Formats: sequence, structure tokens, C-alpha cells
Amino acid sequence: MDVSIIAVGTELLFGQTVNTNASYLSNKLNLMGFNVMYHFVVGDNQGRLQAVINRAMTDSDIMVFTGGLGPTQDDLTKETVASAMGVPLVRDQECLKEIEDFFKSRGHDMTENNYKQADLPEGCTVFHNKVGTAPGFGLDVNGKIAICLPGPPREMTWMFEHCARPFLEDYSHRAMCYRVIRTIGIGESELETVLLPLIDEQQDPTIATYAKEGECTLRIASQRDDPAEALRAVDEMTGLVTKLIGKYIYSYEDKPLNQVVVEKLIERGITISCAESCTGGKFAASITDIPGASGVFSHGAVTYSPQAKMDVLGVKKDTLERYTVVSRETAIEMARGIRMSSGSDISVSITGVAGPDPSDGYPAGTAYIGYSYGNREGCMKVSTGRGSRRWNRHYFTLRMFKIVNEILDNAVEESEEIPDRGENE
Ligand code: ATP
Ligand code: MG
Repeated sequence: MDVSIIAVGTELLFGQTVNTNASYLSNKLNLMGFNVMYHFVVGDNQGRLQAVINRAMTDSDIMVFTGGLGPTQDDLTKETVASAMGVPLVRDQECLKEIEDFFKSRGHDMTENNYKQADLPEGCTVFHNKVGTAPGFGLDVNGKIAICLPGPPREMTWMFEHCARPFLEDYSHRAMCYRVIRTIGIGESELETVLLPLIDEQQDPTIATYAKEGECTLRIASQRDDPAEALRAVDEMTGLVTKLIGKYIYSYEDKPLNQVVVEKLIERGITISCAESCTGGKFAASITDIPGASGVFSHGAVTYSPQAKMDVLGVKKDTLERYTVVSRETAIEMARGIRMSSGSDISVSITGVAGPDPSDGYPAGTAYIGYSYGNREGCMKVSTGRGSRRWNRHYFTLRMFKIVNEILDNAVEESEEIPDRGENE
């Protein structure tokens, strides 16, 4: 069955409130096996809401409304929905009592407009609100279904789970299963090209690719009558995808790379340290974002100036003079220095140019990422070709995590020489 989600509230159109209700509901309804076809956002205006309802009613079987259920003048969702569905509002005695009790328990007097909250479409299923005052409802008029939920996210999610979900379950005969796979090191267009044989023939499961900042995400989804069958179809397709792009996949569970890396470190009891220049501590911050990081991370140094690199990490003056501060040699000495002082199993370092301007003869977006572990050390050069300081710092940090992930997977290229992975990594 096709669904439209209609968020009511002028504050959404002003950009004051982000429409998080729509993304929450889309996610839940898709998983229940419904097809979410449209999102509408409309202000607190009866005429325009009426127009949106007409459109949504033509294009979908189920309309899910959020917002505008309150007691004030601008709350007109209920009235407009009831009139569009050709049903009068009647005062619900049970709701009225609940609202009276709510006010009594707080020692407040009820105003006339509070009574209005107990007026609900005739014949609807009432959704009693245990976390606020405005009741919601589900209404089926000749197979067209309207669900009305309050606007505040806390009330909306509670009412969805406790009332709307059980109401809608009678209408859903299919189950959706999906998996979000995260990759790094392959661009979206290349990803699509490699997967084209699978994407081209897709009916169910479907495969969709999305570019995220510096990485690509893949969603495999299946909708079947039997949830176990949907899961099996997704698993099977995951196997085929892995055969084609396995080396770029770092999570099958939609986890961010820093979480994947820190969880692996924790699980294996491997410690890490870092020495950062142009990322200014972003790598260390991303490590410590993950609960339990203290078990594997004791040291991070932000050595922004050349002097600090010598004083704190023991980078040699001669190295800086001969190769410059933005160089493979400096990066490796940084990694070596922090590993020695911290005693960690793995260390990673970065020296580069965040931008927007070039520095030391290097264009913005150039960085060397050094690493040291076991009896191996090495370096990778990254060139983003971009001048955006924000983007470069984000991307550099991501690449530092990628190297650590490769080290943990034993996937760093074996070489006696210091590997240089080319200009355009
Ligand atoms: P109330 O009884 O609080 O008036 P209501 O059902 O009338 O509830 P609104 O007045 O439309 O809801 O919205 C109340 C608040 O809920 C808004 O100020 C906003 O912060 C939040 N809200 C409303 N709609 C959304 C939405 N689509 N996504 C996220 N937050 C929302
Ligand atoms: Mg309101």
C-alpha cells in the first residue's frame, strides 16, 4: 500500500524545525512493508492543507499526518482531515476525561480550547496520548486511511509505536528487509559501473547507491510476504555484491568507519596512538567518540608547528630541511615518534595542507599519512585536489581510519619499501 506523510506546521517551512518526524516515519513504515511515496510539508493554513490532502488522497492509500493536533487556533489538522474524509467531529467522552484528569493532576484550569482536543472524527480508532494531551487517531473511510499524530517528536514516536503501528499492522501484508553496506575507496560512479550487472536486472532485492562525504553507501532491500524470505534474498544479494566489491566494504551494518575501527581494536586488545598536524586532533576526537576507547587509546599529539614535531615527536631537523614538513619522511618519523613515546601497538600520523591556500609548494588537499605497527612502517599520500579546508580535514581523517582498518585486516600492501600509493588516492 502506498503512503504519503504530511507534516503540518509553518515552523517547518521557515526552517526553524527540521522535519525529523518524516524521516522517522518513512523508516518505520518502509520496514513494515508500506511504500512511502511522498513527503508533504504544509503550513498551518486550512486551504493549503486541504489542497495537499486532495493530492495525497488521490496518490496514496494511507495518509500519515503529524502536527497541528494541539488546542490552539492554528491547530487545524483534525478538522481538515475529518471534513476531507466526509466525517463529522464528535466529542469523545473518554478523551475528555483524560484531558480533565491531566489538568487536574497538574492543578491547572482547563480553557475552552482544551475541550476541543477531545473532538474526534466519528468512527475513528482513538490513539490515547499517555505522554501529552492531544489524542491522535486512525480513520478508515472506504479503504482510504488517515492517521493523525501529534507534532512533538517524543509524543509522535510514542504514539506511533503504541497506537499507529498496531492499527496499521492490519493493512500490511508484506515485510521489508534491508541492509546498508558502507564502502570507502571507490567512487559512486565506479561503484555503479561495477555493480551494473546486478543493478540492471534488479526487481527484488533492489540495490541503490548513495554518495556520502568521502565514501559510498549501498542499500539492498527486499519486500516479500514472508520476512524470512526477504532476509534470505538480501543475504544472497549481499554475497554477490561482496564478490564484486568486497575489498571496499568496511561495514555491513551501516556503522561509521571510526566505530568499526575502535570496536575492532577493543575486541582484539590492540592499542593505538596518533600524531596529527593538519587534522588538528580530529582523528583523536573521532576515536574518543566511541565508548570504550580508553581501553585502546592513551595518546594523541597535535603537533601543528615544525618545532612541535621535533620537540614532541623527535622528528629530525635534518628530515624537515631535506624533505620539508609535508613529506613521507616527516610523516613516518611522526608515526615512529608517537609510537615510541606511547608504547602503542599501532600508530598513525598525518602532515599536510588543509587549505584553502597552497603551502610549502604543495597544493591544498595534499597530505601524507604515516603508520607504524609491528616491525613495519609506511606512508600513503593523499591528494584530494580540493581547496575546501573543511572537506580536506574530514577526508584526511577518514583516510587515517581507512589505513588503520587495513592494518587490522592485514590488508596493507606488503613491501620492504615504503609504499607510495600514487598521487590520486
Ligand atoms: P501541541 O499539542 O504541542 O501543540 P501539535 O500536534 O499541535 O502539538 P505542533 O504544534 O504542530 O504539534 O508542533 C509542536 C512542536 O513539535 C513544534 O514546535 C516542533 O518543535 C515539533 N514538530 C512539529 N512537527 C514536527 C516535525 N515534522 N518534525 C519534527 N518536529 C516537529
Ligand atoms: Mg500545536
